[in-house]
Amino acid sequence: MQKVKIFNNLTRKKEEFKTDIPGHVKFYSCGPTTYDFLHVGNARALVVGDLFHRVLKTLGYQVTFVRNYTDVDDKIIDRANELGMDAIALADKFVKECEADTRHLGMLPPTFTPKVSDTMPEIIQMIQVIIERGFGYVVDGEVLYHVPLFKEYGKLSKVHLDSLQHGIRVEVDGHKKHPSDFVLWKPAKAGEPSWDSPWGKGRPGWHIECSAMAKKYLGKSLDLHHGGVDLQFPHHENEIAQSEAANGCEFCHTWAHNEFLNFGSEKMSKSLGNVVTIRKFVETYSGEVLRHILLSVHYRSKQDWGEEAIEKAIGEMERIHQFTIDLKKAFVGGHIGDDLISDLQVTEEKIREELGNDFNVPAAMGYFFSMIKDFNRVSKMGALDTNYAKRLKEIKLLVSEATGLIHKDPEDLLKRLNQSKKNLKGSGSTDDSVIDKLVQERIVARTTKDWKRSDEIRDRLKSMGVEIKDNPDGTVSWTYK
Ligand SMILES: [Zn+2]
Repeated sequence: MQKVKIFNNLTRKKEEFKTDIPGHVKFYSCGPTTYDFLHVGNARALVVGDLFHRVLKTLGYQVTFVRNYTDVDDKIIDRANELGMDAIALADKFVKECEADTRHLGMLPPTFTPKVSDTMPEIIQMIQVIIERGFGYVVDGEVLYHVPLFKEYGKLSKVHLDSLQHGIRVEVDGHKKHPSDFVLWKPAKAGEPSWDSPWGKGRPGWHIECSAMAKKYLGKSLDLHHGGVDLQFPHHENEIAQSEAANGCEFCHTWAHNEFLNFGSEKMSKSLGNVVTIRKFVETYSGEVLRHILLSVHYRSKQDWGEEAIEKAIGEMERIHQFTIDLKKAFVGGHIGDDLISDLQVTEEKIREELGNDFNVPAAMGYFFSMIKDFNRVSKMGALDTNYAKRLKEIKLLVSEATGLIHKDPEDLLKRLNQSKKNLKGSGSTDDSVIDKLVQERIVARTTKDWKRSDEIRDRLKSMGVEIKDNPDGTVSWTYK
């Protein structure tokens, strides 16, 4: 396997990634709370988790990847009460919707996707151990974690207890020994889902689920933990406090956090204003476009959300998928490109290096695009060298596996990208069949050498925002500009 560097938030340094067992990664990523359709903002954490999973696998690691579903939570209970539904049934419905979203986004299934409601015995057992070790205490059916006892509290977020005590106004809760103490188990209120426990009927606090699930599926210690940057404090800090108190060893060596999508950079345009859920975006533009947007910026950089990002993604995807089609159709057996084979060796090394350099997809894709540019330049000259074509396909496969940005049916994808462009321009009412008919009419006009009619149709299509391309093989294709 290839050596990888990851920016570790625990040390605030990019470090060589080390695993407990050589070649095997125990990886945990905090998943969504399922009370509604997910927002595009949630998609970034999901896609970044999938990227880590894919890249590590591609670079030769065996990855055990756990991503949880929070299906027991205040937000779920509130929403279920509003709708007059059972909370667990509501959460289950949105777990399924989230799974559909992840498929649209081209994500590989994690090894395990546990739910809180399925992990109750492990959660209760872990809370018991925390109490036994003196870090937890019980007050009126509630179990709290006593933060000041955990001396390393703040080591990830660099938020220190002193500043919490004096700096930030903390809601003072009568039965807490310290304002930073947090809930491990809370007693059930009427109408809420609840489980039996040694402390009476109740349900877990939010943070304990990840500690319990990580231990259940990955053991006492993890190699890599990921989540959105907003989870660093208090959620991840509390996960560390719980796991290290219960397990007596370091919880995780490497912590990686993705930045936010930035919705404030431009005035939200009319066409994007209502495209806020992943599902709506997928219906309007496709999941492939969303995945491409989310991977076009390094995961640790803030990413601007807007039409410009969609347009740029569509343009890049067209280049990639046109390349895939052209490579498939290209004649081989000649000498074209034989002088580029050694360059391809360098290209592959650079792509691997950038993927392993804190998952730098934009840099890796830069090398991939310059490879496409070379191909576009030479492929028109004649039949390709067999080895050149073979190496291009190998590199395409590498990028495809590591990023999920190359798709199986490029012709179909290009067609759908056309529709996306149309939706972006708000001209969704034009029927593609009208354009197909005009294109056909123009082919007839050209066959009968009626150049005037042919030009008229071209201009008309142009005014509709459609560009036609006469291919060398005699076929005609069209796209929205
Ligand atoms: Zn978590």
